[in-house]
Amino acid sequence: MPGEGRDSSFCAVTSPQAHRIVIALGGNAIAGPDSADPSSQQAAVTRAAGAIAALVADGHEVVVTHGNGPQVGNLLLKNELTRDVVPPVPLDWCVAQTQATLGFLIVTALEAALREVDAERLVTALVTRVLVDGEDPAWTHPTKPIGQYVDEAQAREHIARGESWEDRGERGWRRIVPSPQPLEILERAAIESLLSPRTVIVAAGGGGIPMVREDGRLRGVEAVLDKDLTAALLARAVGAERLIIATDVEAAAIGFGTPDEERIGAVTPAALRSLQDQGHFASGSMGPKVEAALRFVEQGGRSAVITSLAHLREGAEGRTGTIVEPEE
Ligand code: ADP
Ligand code: MG
Repeated sequence: MPGEGRDSSFCAVTSPQAHRIVIALGGNAIAGPDSADPSSQQAAVTRAAGAIAALVADGHEVVVTHGNGPQVGNLLLKNELTRDVVPPVPLDWCVAQTQATLGFLIVTALEAALREVDAERLVTALVTRVLVDGEDPAWTHPTKPIGQYVDEAQAREHIARGESWEDRGERGWRRIVPSPQPLEILERAAIESLLSPRTVIVAAGGGGIPMVREDGRLRGVEAVLDKDLTAALLARAVGAERLIIATDVEAAAIGFGTPDEERIGAVTPAALRSLQDQGHFASGSMGPKVEAALRFVEQGGRSAVITSLAHLREGAEGRTGTIVEPEE
């Protein structure tokens, strides 16, 4: 009898359509729409876990990664407010802390969601470091806004301490940090050794903890990595067939926000590159998702899907979303 003598609760059902999938959860999937207070985060993570559990129950082997924008912003502010009481910690430490907190929330919610659909797995989160280049142009041209808006006087104090802050118009000033290219998942071998149809791994949260290698030694650096670009790297590193970028829109669109807005469905990498060149994807939001989907497929991944968390399952089945696949 199939499965006889095994612990049936951990027996993965695999079908010919089963894939190894990397799912990248956006900010909206792990925080409330307006707030990252603990109960909103908990509720959002529970919703995301339910959607992911459905895919696991379909037989897919799943690796989860996630953003940390609102969480790391809050942590930076806390550091700032308590600067005279507790020594502030560097940005890479903040990434590690949010990775761990979100990791435990996702693991706990996923275990429960999997139990509910009778698809128990070993669920675990890995503190994940990602290699970047010490010579990346991002170090001299920081571009990524993070944390709270402050007034000019406060921003000037931070600037005097050596940070980069930028006048962002009406809302005030915001800290700008480097966002170098993610080059290598340093925990790749550990992830590989854990991966199996019986496990669900959460890895490289918040884009991963940025590290540089100097004289053969690794050192954490003050930067934030783009979680979509890291997700593409992770998906290639684990040999995933599919990368699903789960956000709050069902698909990427051309003419987004205009009366001529048109959803992009199935698209080849070449056609999507050309839409990207025409400037259809905003740099701080849809841009990195499109770039991540393109990189994954151009480097040999079978398909990348950009869709909403609510449509995760349909997206995984190729029934909705922006589906990037090479020409047959
Ligand atoms: P996440 O938190 O999931 O990373 P983002 O807010 O960074 O989400 O990116 C998703 C957002 O990108 C959408 O809510 C939408 O407002 C915006 N967006 C910008 N350009 C486009 C586009 N061309 N098509 C669809 N959405 C777009
Ligand atoms: Mg984003």
